[in-house]
Amino acid sequence: MSEQTINQEKKKQEQVIENPIVRYKNVSKSFGETTVLNNLDLDIAKGEKIALIGPSGSGKTTIIRMLMTLEEPSSGTIEVDGEMLWHKEVNGELVPADEKHLRKVRGNIGMVFQQYNLFPHMTILKNCTVAPINVLGINKDEAVARAKEMLEKVGLGDKVDAYPSQLSGGQQQRVAIARSLVMKPKVMLFDEVTAALDPELVGEVLEVIKDIAADGETTMILITHEIDFARDIADRVFFLDSGKIAEYGKPEDVLVNPESERLQSFLSRFH
Ligand code: ADP
Repeated sequence: MSEQTINQEKKKQEQVIENPIVRYKNVSKSFGETTVLNNLDLDIAKGEKIALIGPSGSGKTTIIRMLMTLEEPSSGTIEVDGEMLWHKEVNGELVPADEKHLRKVRGNIGMVFQQYNLFPHMTILKNCTVAPINVLGINKDEAVARAKEMLEKVGLGDKVDAYPSQLSGGQQQRVAIARSLVMKPKVMLFDEVTAALDPELVGEVLEVIKDIAADGETTMILITHEIDFARDIADRVFFLDSGKIAEYGKPEDVLVNPESERLQSFLSRFH
């Protein structure tokens, strides 16, 4: 084995976490001829906050879309809390999972996108109670109590009766975060949630995410171009480059003393 291969193997070993909440094992994804993720290994511990950074097109969104079951890996396996997402093991063989199984595992995952897509004709409260009532089947009183609690948490306790059009973009995005939290997911995915906001509204949304992160319990995977935010919030930062994890580690290492020229040049854009 060459020194480089040994180093790569060592890095892989370091990444293995016991009882991870999320585990990508040897995951590749191609669209037609184009490989966008190449043998991804990634373990995430319960409660961990992970930031994915990297140039546009490096594969970040594909990583989380697969976890949300919006894309299927071309090869490899993904586990959430010990359960395989896309496969089931039957008599020692991996077979494709059925829709029921996918739905069950997907129930552990919440996602907030760039576009918040609230229902315009429903109040803020109703926006937050529809899914818990219809998808989780919890009763209306409990859904309302949970929704109010989460809206308080994102600083919008006084807006329950407002309609989305009466709120600013930052407030709407905070509702989208509350709506996701109401489902009590084990893992929260945030995909560039501030990218579509006016600059003056970015701070309030990042603050809300930091508050939620401080509660500790929820595992978070954040795709962000807000490097200072990643540094504040993340336990580990992963730099994606051309469908591979090119560098990863604690934010104070990866973001302050990047090893590779690619990462140095990527980060220099933000200064
Ligand atoms: P990032 O989030 O880092 O910008 P993405 O995961 O969105 O990167 O995309 C990685 C690559 O995969 C890009 O080259 C993109 O064009 C390609 N890609 C993503 N989704 C599809 C798709 N549904 N069909 C074809 N190509 C796709």
